[in-house]
Amino acid sequence: MRGDLPLSVTQVYCWAYAEDSNDRAPEVFPPKLGSEGLKQTVERLQQMGTRVVSYVNAFFWDSDTESYYIENAEQGAVRLETGEVQFMGYSGQRIATMCPGPALWRDKLTEVCKELVGRYRVDGIYLDFLTVHGMDCFNPEHGHPLGGGNYWTKSVRELYGHIRHELKQINPEVILTGERTAEYVIDLLDAPLSQETVGATPMFQAVYHGYALAYGGQTNNSEPHSLGRWWLMGNQNGWNQTEPGLAKALNGDPEYQDRVQHAQYYVKLLRCHYHFGQPYLAYGEMLRPPRIDGDLPTVTGQTGYGSYTVPVVEGSARRAPDGSVGVFFLNYDKEQSHEFSWTVDLREGAGWGRHTRLKLCQWTEERGLEYVEEVPGGRLTRRATIEPWGLIALRIEVIK
Ligand SMILES: [Zn+2]
Repeated sequence: MRGDLPLSVTQVYCWAYAEDSNDRAPEVFPPKLGSEGLKQTVERLQQMGTRVVSYVNAFFWDSDTESYYIENAEQGAVRLETGEVQFMGYSGQRIATMCPGPALWRDKLTEVCKELVGRYRVDGIYLDFLTVHGMDCFNPEHGHPLGGGNYWTKSVRELYGHIRHELKQINPEVILTGERTAEYVIDLLDAPLSQETVGATPMFQAVYHGYALAYGGQTNNSEPHSLGRWWLMGNQNGWNQTEPGLAKALNGDPEYQDRVQHAQYYVKLLRCHYHFGQPYLAYGEMLRPPRIDGDLPTVTGQTGYGSYTVPVVEGSARRAPDGSVGVFFLNYDKEQSHEFSWTVDLREGAGWGRHTRLKLCQWTEERGLEYVEEVPGGRLTRRATIEPWGLIALRIEVIK
């Protein structure tokens, strides 16, 4: 990351000996860099100010590993209604999917995670697959109801709870995260990888913003209506797979010069979040979004859950723990500036009626936070012009 922006968390992939993270899972040791090499690399990253979170495949046991036979992996595998083990064919491997119910898989996965946190001193674990890839397991030896029912979510909860408990004994500050957002493990994962779940209706962010620090953007998309909308909805940016290309663009790599504006936009969002927006966008209470009026075109985005069409100017409002309200607007239009008016109901959002004296400040990257004007509470309407790729960040607070 550049200059004034700190590294915060780095999710590390492909550290295991195998070329592909599915190959040989869960036999991930020795690490590709060797035992000492991985330890030193983790330490070096931590000295740079980042917390290292290791990728762990939480669902697969590759059938061409010795341990698959020696440790009787099939006893813990998901079985289909026909009684056969369910295999998947990722990366050309023949991989058994593991049931979270029995102790066999719970203990194996816990052993891998403990080795990473204990020996290699990583700060956290990312558990792939398990949260969202619910299966109907028909293995009669597992002690859970066969087929449907709630055993999958119950088992995953117990599995995550067990791993969390064991890892906390080694490092009380350990981070546990996993693929996708899910209500049923919200208390067991410190931050869920939300990926595409903002889209048309950011339901998870709207309902659970007070309980979960969702992170991650739309895979392979760095357009303003993707990076920007995810940011605006309080999703922590990062993990959209475009970052390496954007970093190369900023570092002058001639192959990535068509990405420079996208990279600058990304940095602008991160900078605003870090220097001003965090108490609102990360830790604030989501308020009703500002009403926006104007002659605004729309833009259509696509996620794995379908398409969404939104006006090119969108806004959000949040109340920070200190009681102040942050109001944010983005212009996803890359060519045109737009004029619009916005309205927020401060009585509804913050309990500030029209006799409450408030001050409105604006944060900009160039000048930081500056006083704009005194405003009344109640319904507040203002006009604004927002430039292409634009960002407006406002703070409203009571005059004491
Ligand atoms: Zn089972």
